[in-house]
This record gives sequence, structure tokens and C-alpha cells, in this order.
Amino acid sequence: MRKILLIILFTTAIFAKLNVAVTYNYLGEVTKAIGGDLVDVTVLSSPKLDPHFITPKPSLIAKLRRADLLIINGGQLEIGWLPPLLKRANSSKINTGGIGFLDVSGAVELIDKPKSVSRAYGDIHPDGNPHFGLDINNIIPIAKLISMKLSQLDPKNSSTYNNNYNSFSSKMETLANSLKEKYKSCQGKKVIQYHELFNYALRAYGVESLATIEPLPGISPSSKHTIKVINLIRENGIKTILQDVYHEKKTAKFIADKTGAKVNIVPHDVGAISEANSLEDFYKIVAKRICQ
Ligand SMILES: [Zn+2]
Repeated sequence: MRKILLIILFTTAIFAKLNVAVTYNYLGEVTKAIGGDLVDVTVLSSPKLDPHFITPKPSLIAKLRRADLLIINGGQLEIGWLPPLLKRANSSKINTGGIGFLDVSGAVELIDKPKSVSRAYGDIHPDGNPHFGLDINNIIPIAKLISMKLSQLDPKNSSTYNNNYNSFSSKMETLANSLKEKYKSCQGKKVIQYHELFNYALRAYGVESLATIEPLPGISPSSKHTIKVINLIRENGIKTILQDVYHEKKTAKFIADKTGAKVNIVPHDVGAISEANSLEDFYKIVAKRICQ
């Protein structure tokens, strides 16, 4: 009996997977690509919802307590929902600064940084724009950081993580180059977007966002600001409004009706729309809907 128990314990130790909790779906997809069968990934939010305001459900606390590693987007994207959950989970391992905590914003350079700390710049992007996951070029350094962290936590499998990273990064680099080539005529295009969600992707394709439907990040549209946007669209001959899946859509429709511009629904995360269920399809559809 004791022998059997020892064998079970030994086998469990050998084949135990790393439990990885991630805040958003795209981070889950990268972690699965790098970790393969060696990781169990739990995504804490739904890609259909506003990433700034996920409901901090109690069930998420149990998921955090089970985690060996917590991977977050950072750049204050989770500031409105994750801190109280982390506090309640009370796991020193995955708390900020713990061995099992990884903030991937360290892998990229944030854009749209406010010139001074002021509410005049809106409430929800105080450190700059946290939506860097929308640019395919950023996913490679993020994957590198994840592969390094998995190797640190599970050094005996580091060559697997490294090999998986190498094949992931070359696949993404090929896709990034082909999308850049496919949509090069998109350069110089001007668009309107609801929230500053797509700035990193717009930069990748040389597209300029002239205004947002919300007057400031996190502030609901006003009629005065909507009229300003309508005039801007008319003056600049803008033909495309980029709308995400989770904000109200009636303001974009109103503006489109007044100006003849077209509303394109663009996913902000893997799984936000049914056509974007893998990282590859996500980046393809983001580029297509920005450029067409
Ligand atoms: Zn935002």
C-alpha cells in the first residue's frame, strides 16, 4: 500500500503541470503556445467584456489560489478589478514581486503616455496606452518574457519552452511580415475609433486615428463631442469608424448615418468575435477590419 502511494506521489510530482492564471485570452494563447502540455492555463476574464472592468467574482479567488504563476497585461489595465482579488487570494507566490508573478508590459514600450498626471487625460490610461497586445509585433517580446518565466519556474523543461518560443516567434514574424505587405496600401488612412484600443495596431499599418467617440479614455460620449466628431469626419473625408464589441454601438451608428462612414467591428482580444478564435486569426482580422 505504502509503495503504491509513493509511486502515485512520485508520478504526480513528475507529471505535475504548472497552473498558470492569465488575465486575458491573448495571454492564455501565448502561454499555451510556449508551455504546451506542461501548463494548465486558466483565463480570468471573458474576451467579450471591457478589459478595464471585469467583475471580480469570488470564483476567481479560488483560481488565483491554485495558480503557480499569474501573468498580467499590466500598464494599469487590470487596476480596476485584479487588486482586490489578489488581496483575498493572499498567495505570496503570485503577488506583485513574487516568483510566480509576471507583468508583460515590461516587454514593450507604452505609447500615449500622459504629459502630466491629470484627470484631464481621462481616468483609465494613467501610465499610457495599455492595449499593446493588439499589435502583432509586440507579441514576440511578450512570448519571450513568458518563456523565460516558465523556464525559471520549471528549469528541467527549459529547452522545451525555448524551442516552442523559437517556433512561435518565427511563425508570428512571418505572419507580421505578410500582413504588413498585404495592407501596405492602408498607410496614410485616417479613422475614428470608440476608445483608444487600436492605437498600436494602427501604428503598425501606418493608419492615423483622428478622434475617439468617447471624449477621453473611460468617459462616455456627449452630444457636444459627437457633433465635433461628425464635423471632423466630414472635413477629413474619413470613411471608417472602428468599434469594439463591448461599448454601446448606437453613437457609432448615429455618426455613420450622419456622415456615410462605415462601422467596422474590430476584436480587442482573441475570442472577442467568432472569427478571431486563434492568435493568427485575431491579428489577421484586426488588420483586415482596420484597413478595409
Ligand atoms: Zn483602454
